Amino acid sequence: MTSPPGGSDQDGSTREPQPFVCARCGIPAGDSQPATWTCSVENGTRQYFCDVCSRQNLRAIEGRLDSAWW
Ligand SMILES: [Zn+2]
Repeated sequence: MTSPPGGSDQDGSTREPQPFVCARCGIPAGDSQPATWTCSVENGTRQYFCDVCSRQNLRAIEGRLDSAWW
């Protein structure tokens, strides 16, 4: 594969810092986690949920259930 000059790597690589996006509805939050958002660690991966989704899934998050069943 060819590498374009500039070192830009937007080929779906991992290990890139991702902006905060709600894992459920996908709404972007910006560069930092809003105070109203909830962070849930599932399978070693941090997932963030906006205030609306956090409220809806509060029981699931507190129950430490995977989001897969939502
Ligand atoms: Zn959401």
